[in-house]
Amino acid sequence: METIYFDNAATTPVDPEVIKAMMPYLTEHHGNPSSVHRFGRKTRAGIESSRRTIAELLNASPGEIFFASGGTEADNMAVKCAVMDMGIEHIIISEIEHHAVLYTAQDLEKRGLATVSYVKLTANGHIDLQDLESLLKAHPNSLVSLMHANNEIGNRIDLDVVGDLCHAHGALFHSDTVQTMAHYSFDLSALPVDMVSGSAHKFHGPKGVGFIYISSNVKMKPFIIGGSQERNMRAGTENVFSIVGLAKALEIAYADLEEHQEHILGLKNYMIKTLKLELPDAEFNGDISEDSLYTVLSVRLPENEMAEMLLYNLDIAGVACSGGSACSSGTNKGSHVLAAIYPDVTNPSVRFSFSKFNTKEEVDRCVGVLKNLFEAVPA
Ligand code: PLP
Repeated sequence: METIYFDNAATTPVDPEVIKAMMPYLTEHHGNPSSVHRFGRKTRAGIESSRRTIAELLNASPGEIFFASGGTEADNMAVKCAVMDMGIEHIIISEIEHHAVLYTAQDLEKRGLATVSYVKLTANGHIDLQDLESLLKAHPNSLVSLMHANNEIGNRIDLDVVGDLCHAHGALFHSDTVQTMAHYSFDLSALPVDMVSGSAHKFHGPKGVGFIYISSNVKMKPFIIGGSQERNMRAGTENVFSIVGLAKALEIAYADLEEHQEHILGLKNYMIKTLKLELPDAEFNGDISEDSLYTVLSVRLPENEMAEMLLYNLDIAGVACSGGSACSSGTNKGSHVLAAIYPDVTNPSVRFSFSKFNTKEEVDRCVGVLKNLFEAVPA
């Protein structure tokens, strides 16, 4: 029987239509996009039409979209440039940010370039807005970097509310939208955000390519220095075929957004319902209401001896999923997100994350596997 892939927040399978769009840029069009001749003009056209597609889908201007190697680079760019180029001396984040933001902010602090405050979290892992307001009052003109949806537990922030609060206190607002890009619609011209990050492999595009949106109001200096690519912001010959794949993946996602949302939310709710019935000892991390990211479900399981090697046991039983964040799957490091919200909980947690390619039958099989693992072995 085929292994069930419930690790879509780690990465998604590439859509065959995306591969089709990329192929000509691997086989036929080999020119360097910076070359003036026809070969170069062909690949330049591929890049610029991809940029226009992305900008149109997100209601931004093409000049506000900068390609990067993925979410990690986009996050680094946002946080580092805000401090190093714009003279911002204070960063406000939360302890449950992705390491691409968390470690970057901490590194700037270690180097003496900025100080960092952490917004308090509520009991189920939401940002405490009152605390954010107090921090903003104490540190006006900061950089605030808060993720749109948490990749481990799925809690979402309201970009309008947080962005307005930041701007009311002169702060620059970056949101890591890596898990929500292509899963929700964005009107970047209307949203009070200054920067957002996206990564193609989270929405059926290729790995190693993403982008950062930098509002035209924000004036940044080059992040990678060398050639004049990406309007001097990020030097280096562009990853042409991946950029074309990124735009195609975003286009496909937005063409059928509501259908996918409904299907995937249906799977998540079905899994919640089935787990409650079949494994009543299981609990859920974070907020599982319909406001949370519909692709992610973090389940806290009972402690027993199967828990020790849980991810391997699930893999052997035909379910691929993650223990915590995508990036720490495979390593034994505990989740910094769960540790920050539930410091006293020692139970094992598993993150199931779904895509448009998953089915209800897979949810049934997965719950059956969990029931077997946890009922066969006494606590
Ligand atoms: N931010 C979030 C919320 C993520 O989930 C990830 C990937 O797991 C990243 C950033 C990093 O993205 P990338 O893998 O494209 O570097």
